[in-house]
Amino acid sequence: MRKFTKKSMTFQTGLVRTTLSAACIGLFSLETFASDVDLIVEGDYVVTMQDDDSIIEQGAIAIKDGVIVEVGKADNIRKKYQTSNIIPGHEKVLMPGLINGHSHSAMTLFRGIADDLDLMDWLTQYIFPIENKFVTPEFIKTGAELACYEMIQSGTTTFVDMYFYPEVIADVMVDCGLRAIITAPMIDTPSPGFKGWNDSFSAGEKYVRQWQNKHPRITPGFGPHAPYTVIPEHLKQVGEVAKKLSAPISIHVAETSGETDIIQSQYHKTPVTHVLSQLQDNWIIAAHMVHPLESEYPSMAAANLGAIHNPTSNAKLASGLSPVPEMLNAGIRVGLGTDGAASNNNLDMFEEIRTAALIHKLESGDPKKLPALDALKLATKYGAAAIGFESSIGQLKTGYSADLIQLDLSEARIHPIYDIISHLVYVIDSDQVVTTIVDGKVLMLNKDVKTLDGRKIKEEAQHKAKEIQQYLRKH
Ligand SMILES: [Zn+2]
Repeated sequence: MRKFTKKSMTFQTGLVRTTLSAACIGLFSLETFASDVDLIVEGDYVVTMQDDDSIIEQGAIAIKDGVIVEVGKADNIRKKYQTSNIIPGHEKVLMPGLINGHSHSAMTLFRGIADDLDLMDWLTQYIFPIENKFVTPEFIKTGAELACYEMIQSGTTTFVDMYFYPEVIADVMVDCGLRAIITAPMIDTPSPGFKGWNDSFSAGEKYVRQWQNKHPRITPGFGPHAPYTVIPEHLKQVGEVAKKLSAPISIHVAETSGETDIIQSQYHKTPVTHVLSQLQDNWIIAAHMVHPLESEYPSMAAANLGAIHNPTSNAKLASGLSPVPEMLNAGIRVGLGTDGAASNNNLDMFEEIRTAALIHKLESGDPKKLPALDALKLATKYGAAAIGFESSIGQLKTGYSADLIQLDLSEARIHPIYDIISHLVYVIDSDQVVTTIVDGKVLMLNKDVKTLDGRKIKEEAQHKAKEIQQYLRKH
């Protein structure tokens, strides 16, 4: 619906009120009429992440029905669109919300529980036994809420999850406002709520069927844990059902050299080739990808597989460094993720962006490896492509979902500003995120999270941690 703006009213009453013809409306419509929108968000810099890498100074975005109507100069946007909801952009940068391609949300409750261990020791001595003892739907609700709070605060608007009781996580995400691919974990051995493969697989399939097309922000998927915890027949079973349902599969692949040894000795293939041979023509979001072979790049690119780089988790568990620049050069879709908060130990994507930008330079001895803009793209435009959402998120662009964040630039330590992209990677922290918007809905404004009660979540998390600590002391 179109309405007259104050400016157009002045124009009509003062000059041509009686001669406003159809031709005249056509000629002046852009300047004299303004469309109603739900929200306008502004920024001294609008980092669009569009194909031309455009950055608009003194820019703004008009949003209606959860969708970006236009991105442009703030002056023009204010003339063309009207709303009483304007979030000003003085000393702010506006950019797409970040995309976390791999997480285990409710593991926030295991934050800092066991550090400085090998992956297999960490998993088998701490994580698996404690999960089997403590993970319940109530535990998951608290952990997912804590994760959601942290992600909203640190600028993540979409994430890919793999954790127990996915239906509980999905319910939390509906309420807290984030966008997510939430995958049902599946593993051959007993896991929380399940005796083994058969019941975890059938519960996972039931969950995916129930949540498909149920909520526009939630995409359900399958989460077979890894090629070393799920036998080939079971991987194939997942692949067939996922294909039938057009559902994504999140899986850990080629995380450690130990995994390569296991898969090589059991199946005489490397993990990537093994997984691709079981999951053919599937929508695959493969976490870690630390040890793919160069000879496997063409088949990874052809499969449209999304490789999710988890630099902090891989560094902390000393798993190695994923060949991200090489995979990008080979045309492979690459995104960025935090992994669970038990192996990171947070869900801070700005930390991942900076770590990725630094660690590849250090490892290669080449400061030109993974430049700042590419590192930022891993968490936005490239990240969206890696999870299969390239036509709806990851860029600030007309027709895309209004998933965006505003960061504050007022602190002295951020000045002067020569290059906003460089600053977003090497200077600015997640603490500077002040506004988080998903689907046009404001989830955080002036650092105030609107959809969750932080005090209550902290109390519940601390209570759970005490129970776990007591158990660990006895065992
Ligand atoms: Zn993981």
